[in-house]
Amino acid sequence: MLALGSERATLKDKADTLIQVTMTNREKYDLLLMAMGAYTPLDGFVGEADWKGSCKNMRFENGLFWPIPITLSVTKELAARISIGDEVVLVDPEEDNLPMAILTVAEKYCPDCEFECRHVFGTTEEDHPGVHRVINQESVNLGGQLMVFDEGGFPNVFKDLYLRPMESRDLFQELGWSEVTAFQTRNPMHRSHEHLVKTAMDITQGVLIHQVLGELKPGDFPAEVRTKAIDLLVKNYFPKNTVIQAGYPIEMRYAGPREALLHALIRQNYGCSHLIVGRDHAGVSDYYGPYEAHDIFDTLWDGALLTQPIKLDVTFYCTKCDGMASARTCPHEPEVQIQISGTRLRELLSQGEDIPSEFSRPEVVSVLREYYEKLKT
Ligand SMILES: [Zn+2]
Repeated sequence: MLALGSERATLKDKADTLIQVTMTNREKYDLLLMAMGAYTPLDGFVGEADWKGSCKNMRFENGLFWPIPITLSVTKELAARISIGDEVVLVDPEEDNLPMAILTVAEKYCPDCEFECRHVFGTTEEDHPGVHRVINQESVNLGGQLMVFDEGGFPNVFKDLYLRPMESRDLFQELGWSEVTAFQTRNPMHRSHEHLVKTAMDITQGVLIHQVLGELKPGDFPAEVRTKAIDLLVKNYFPKNTVIQAGYPIEMRYAGPREALLHALIRQNYGCSHLIVGRDHAGVSDYYGPYEAHDIFDTLWDGALLTQPIKLDVTFYCTKCDGMASARTCPHEPEVQIQISGTRLRELLSQGEDIPSEFSRPEVVSVLREYYEKLKT
């Protein structure tokens, strides 16, 4: 789906003559995931039957497992100007309306957004950020095949971190890893994250530490800061050649269990046999139970998904256990478990206060501190 060489220029020229469709951020990230091969074998935005099947039964008409429909929406007015069989160009408003891909429109349909939200998010409450976006998207979906000729700034901004599934699969093979666990994170890794990953390393040979790239939420550390902190953690506390660090572009939908499945599907394309699924994975406020994202894997039919979950709980250092422990292994009261929230950590860092080494490795803390010092100047 990603045009290469001279084909790029040809498509770009052609794009100048086509009707423009402006993408939302979510649609752009979905396009990038398709272009890089993370959504294989999906070859474009879904039509109505696949939209419905994906919402209701987590499968397309042809039987393919797909837990969240990947859609593109336009206004009624714009849809009226587009005929079935037309080609349109998809542009990114965040990058000055950069033309990125040509979509051959196979279908136009008005999805029932409430139906989608009820099935995918388990709620139609608009306070849920994922529901809010679906309910407020434009009213007509365009389905059809996609040909991408420009991936925008991401591959240059993130360079080596922007690892494509084809590259990771080759890399795992070179390293001789038959089983690899993916760990998704948008944080610099503290000891709790280190413990989750090391628990997985007792089961599989290699680990892909996979950052969420893209929009930062207020208080998030930028990707380069996280990468530096994780590199130091790996260098000092992990055996050689057991970890690969990379990132991928995705906009979180906060669909909890359904999104955990999508994350696993993406990692299947990356060549990972396992995915760490934590407590309330991809959840938001209290819409999902702490283990719903674990349990949904048990409801799938045989062959739906090869990548398996490693179901873990919250971990922390417990002073009474005198070591790392988890909600499953430690019987003690919260007062003796060293846990620091993201908000509290930022407070401590900005006030220049000590971060206990039971919470985060000193090497990691020094990188975060350096970042906060720079923010001040
Ligand atoms: Zn304990």
